[in-house]
Amino acid sequence: MGESASVIMRQKVRDFSAWGRYPRVHGELVYGVSPEGLASLLKSGDPFIPLGNRRSYGDSALAARMLDVRPCNYMLDFDPDNGLLHAQAGVLLSDILETFVPRGWFLPVTPGTKHVTVGGAIASDVHGKNHHLDGCFSRWVKEISIILPGGQVVSCSRSKKPELFLATCGGQGLTGVILEAKFYLKKIDSCLLKQVTVRTNNLMETFDAFEQYRNMPYSVAWIDGTAKGPKTGRGIFTSASFMKGGDFDYRPHGSMDIPVDFPTFFMNKALLSGFNFLYYHRTQERVSYQQVVDIDTFFYPLDRIGQWNRLYGRRGFVQYHFILPKRQSLDGILEIMREIDRSGISPYLAVLKLYGMENRNLLSFPLEGYGLALDFKIQKGLFDLLDRLDNKVAARGGRLYLTKDSRMNRKMVEKGYPGVWQFRRFRRSHDMDKMFQSLQSRRLGL
Ligand SMILES: Cc1cc2nc3c(=O)[nH]c(=O)nc-3n(C[C@H](O)[C@H](O)[C@H](O)COP(=O)(O)OP(=O)(O)OC[C@H]3O[C@@H](n4cnc5c(N)ncnc54)[C@H](O)[C@@H]3O)c2cc1C
Repeated sequence: MGESASVIMRQKVRDFSAWGRYPRVHGELVYGVSPEGLASLLKSGDPFIPLGNRRSYGDSALAARMLDVRPCNYMLDFDPDNGLLHAQAGVLLSDILETFVPRGWFLPVTPGTKHVTVGGAIASDVHGKNHHLDGCFSRWVKEISIILPGGQVVSCSRSKKPELFLATCGGQGLTGVILEAKFYLKKIDSCLLKQVTVRTNNLMETFDAFEQYRNMPYSVAWIDGTAKGPKTGRGIFTSASFMKGGDFDYRPHGSMDIPVDFPTFFMNKALLSGFNFLYYHRTQERVSYQQVVDIDTFFYPLDRIGQWNRLYGRRGFVQYHFILPKRQSLDGILEIMREIDRSGISPYLAVLKLYGMENRNLLSFPLEGYGLALDFKIQKGLFDLLDRLDNKVAARGGRLYLTKDSRMNRKMVEKGYPGVWQFRRFRRSHDMDKMFQSLQSRRLGL
């Protein structure tokens, strides 16, 4: 078979964007996941970026040429003695849940959507609501198999080619195409969780709730981004743990699709204030209360609405996801929320999480502290505001999450990620910088 026939099974040229729908790139999407196809794609010498399910928000998965890894989606082996799953990189977390929850296994770490691939979870080193106890996804990865610029497929782990492992986990697809991974699932005794909910009156109370329930495996808080003054940072805190009792009747929720792009004016301040007021007051009691919830209700509430990103209209939105060291978190988040309030621009969604220890990966996001994710509609004045927020985050020793980013500058990544210099050197010394490029890697000089 000639090279070109084995490389690319199909290709599409059109405008692409990731979940935030900003920015867009006019690019070529190629599908060529056989080892021979990949090898000759690499031989062609034209740079590209591997792509999963495009649930990153910004431009880390966008380029003039993108390789869709999703067709590479077989689960290859599972060891029920220790929960080790061997899967190809295009397998979706939702498929793992459907296969393994009924057998009493759950993902060790899961982001707030289950529609991401294994490769995407590793390349962003995603975290979940249990980071304070269980760390990032990579902590549960035993081994990764990856194809490098020269076309050779190698496996790496913490002990085998550790530099490649530490650069790849969180490396935003810039070290090679992840083909397969072996990682541990977590044993559960039920697919139901006991959830505790606490309505808080301000940020201090929200922090207190996180600390009070820090031994619960999962916790998260929705923050009312419209609350001002002494109410700043009020929200609904929830934490949960899996129940016992052997109920494994997992029923994935369906989703209601948003069929069209909403007009840009749909998401406006009146709607936002109304929603936040209702959502906050939906929880009547100030004291905590308990309820039993299923996996999709607790972990994936946003997946209930398919394509909810269309609500922001064609111009899209930006998620500003920052983290601050713990001792800076309270003052820093208050300062940032006050700056946002002064700007007259409000976030449509604000989610706060507690994070545990930082890992050794060169570009993983979490550090010990609190992180806040804020969704902003693209609008006039937004990027100036975000530049001002960058200065505050950097001054307090924080950083922005690369997989949500579409606009930070080089200085910001250099201040936030001390490992970036080593990452750059590593890429250069292995010719990865010539072969794997995204809009983000070019902007940030990664
Ligand atoms: C509603 C929602 C909630 C989310 N919640 C969280 C959260 O709680 N925590 C969190 O950490 N993240 C969260 N995310 C972000 C998401 O988990 C990550 O962006 C994840 O990487 C997306 O995976 P993907 O398969 O869609 O990859 P893509 O978005 O397609 O790609 C993401 C990155 O991975 C690289 N990549 C993908 N596949 C491969 C591969 N096979 N080999 C090498 N590189 C590859 C790409 O080049 C790119 O840099 C959320 C996203 C959404 C939309």
